[in-house]
Amino acid sequence: MVKSYLDISGEQNDLSASIYAFFDKDRYFFECGEAAQRVYKERSSIKIGKIKTIFLTTLSWDSIGGLIGVFYLLAGIEDCKEVDIYGPPGLYNVFYHSREFLNIELKVNIYEMNSRIPQVLKLEQLTVTTIPITNKKYESMDDQDQQPFRMISYHNYLQLEEWEALMAATCQQRKTMYVNVKEIQEDRLVVDKDLVMCYVGETNKLPGRFYPDRALALGVTKGPMFQALTSGKSVVTKDGNTVTSEQVMDPQQPGTKFAIIRCPSIEYLDSLTTSSYFGKQDNIDDIQIVVHLTPSDVLESERYQQFIKQFKCDTTKHIIVNNENCENYDQLLSSDKEIEKMRHFLPSIFGKRCPERQVKQLSIVESVQHLTCCQKMTRVGLAPPACAGEISFVKMEDEVSEDKKEAKLYEELMKSEKAASLRQLIVDTNAQLESLENKKLYPKVLFTGTGASKPSKERNVTGHLVETIQGKYMLLDCGEGTYGQLMRFFGKEKVTEILKNLDLIWISHNHADHHLGTPLMIERINQVRKGLNLPAVVLIAPSEIVDWLQGLTQVLHATHNGFEFDKQDRLVDECFVRLGIKSWVNAHVDHCENARGAVVEFVDDGFKLSYSGDTRPCENFITSGHGSDLMIHEATFEDDLQGDAIDKKHSTIGEALTVGQKMQAKTSICTHFSQKTKCLNNIGSSVVKPDSYGMSFDFLYVSPYQYPLFKNLLQLIDLEEELKLHIK
Ligand SMILES: [Zn+2]
Repeated sequence: MVKSYLDISGEQNDLSASIYAFFDKDRYFFECGEAAQRVYKERSSIKIGKIKTIFLTTLSWDSIGGLIGVFYLLAGIEDCKEVDIYGPPGLYNVFYHSREFLNIELKVNIYEMNSRIPQVLKLEQLTVTTIPITNKKYESMDDQDQQPFRMISYHNYLQLEEWEALMAATCQQRKTMYVNVKEIQEDRLVVDKDLVMCYVGETNKLPGRFYPDRALALGVTKGPMFQALTSGKSVVTKDGNTVTSEQVMDPQQPGTKFAIIRCPSIEYLDSLTTSSYFGKQDNIDDIQIVVHLTPSDVLESERYQQFIKQFKCDTTKHIIVNNENCENYDQLLSSDKEIEKMRHFLPSIFGKRCPERQVKQLSIVESVQHLTCCQKMTRVGLAPPACAGEISFVKMEDEVSEDKKEAKLYEELMKSEKAASLRQLIVDTNAQLESLENKKLYPKVLFTGTGASKPSKERNVTGHLVETIQGKYMLLDCGEGTYGQLMRFFGKEKVTEILKNLDLIWISHNHADHHLGTPLMIERINQVRKGLNLPAVVLIAPSEIVDWLQGLTQVLHATHNGFEFDKQDRLVDECFVRLGIKSWVNAHVDHCENARGAVVEFVDDGFKLSYSGDTRPCENFITSGHGSDLMIHEATFEDDLQGDAIDKKHSTIGEALTVGQKMQAKTSICTHFSQKTKCLNNIGSSVVKPDSYGMSFDFLYVSPYQYPLFKNLLQLIDLEEELKLHIK
């Protein structure tokens, strides 16, 4: 029998907790935080096409932030046509408000579970009970009259003709078509943001052992009759005797029962412990595994401990999954390796390794039997019955298929003599730069994502954190996982400081890879600013994005001030003043409707920064950005794919560099690379390169006085390309 199990990853600073139930054919996932698609790609054992169902405990972006990215990923898989999502009421809102950019050929069935009463779902491999809990005082969570049971399936799937018409339609038309297609029910758009859904899963019962000799002795013949008996049916022998399956088989073995409990704060305890499900001893007696997505202050409260003790203390396994108590555990290994390499050669522009998350000892570990804080990936057996509740700790390295060529290249690079002398050259250049008087430190740019369209193992989707003047920050684009990238780079303490001083999020255009990280960023900004009297973060974006985020405030705990491009407002002016910005141009560029580039001039000595967003080479951007000190330009394709660049309204590397040349930018840097691009060398022979230019990588963190190092960075990349030629 094939093993089935739960894989539990603890809550890290950069990634939220996840629980995957693995069965032979299907995968059932609980929670889908940001960067889920990136983790799925890294972990080859997941087999993305097998994901059938995702369960969500809350409507917070911590739980749902990765969903849209995962849909794009699933839609790209040939035999994947459908996915079921279960979660609290209001889940549909997320999709309703995302309809402007969520154009995928995937049927998404969204089930909003009842907010008062437990509901039982019979799925192929599992029976799942949903148990709503709340921090509010209701008369009764069981009163069915308050809100009748509703399970509604929405979907986002269109016939091909509808699909094509939709793609050809303008934004305004698209809005109405969606409304027609999906029959939006406006009355459903008000939700309880605080509701939490807990889950109890039970694997299917297993048939008992079949005894063929007993059957033969009772006059049953081999073949179809055996089949009928083993599937639980009775048969009649040719002598007219009825033989039941109970006569020839052991009784069925019960399935394995596990609970996933999220109890965000003490206020939820009443509802949890008195719920019609967990409040009944019968229901919890046979639960073998409990996963607690519960913070330590709640775990350590007396009432929660009493609750834990209600489970059968000599057998039930408890797994603790929270940010304070579970072990540090990196899941994005390829990217870690890449940055380690960059740091080895160019430490001054790739920063230091951030301090590890502090792991606190949980005081109740001693007093509760079978309680484990999540370590590495904690794997708990579900079946066969002999393995149920068996715990092992799996290393991420064992779950990914290593790229042998990449590993060899790394090895070669580390022992190459040329690399050693390049490293020395960089040390010298660096010393020279550091000895300069009046070093120009700001604006300092951190590239949080430098890949195009979908995150890859090495490159996240677009994001730039800009420290405009000392201690003041803005974001230029904010793709999914940008918050996690900041955490990976800076660590929690520094990120808290940054978010208190992050005054502006600017989004270039309405494509998911440039803005999906904004909701979590805004949620986090709100969390760190709680109780501080700071102005709300300003968002400047296309109107569709402003509407999207405004709509999402119905499900998220997050306030912000959203403005369409070029909207005049005192709050925007004040924000620019705080950031030391003298002028800002939202330059029209040639990509999708209402796509812009940003041209920013700073008060401090008039430094000019231009960022293209996504675009074809664009005269308007060249004119606006004329004489920029730094130009950041997308370079999605290598020059031999210019046709693709034209079709998809992107630029090639050669085109991006030419824009820099025409703009007379003092330094140009290319970014937004397709997965194929490894260096900047595949450009047309006629391209006139600017004097100073560079290639971006995730976690490149650079001040203006350090731009001369771009040249060394390119030398390193070229050296790698050279070494690659010799590796088989
Ligand atoms: Zn785009």
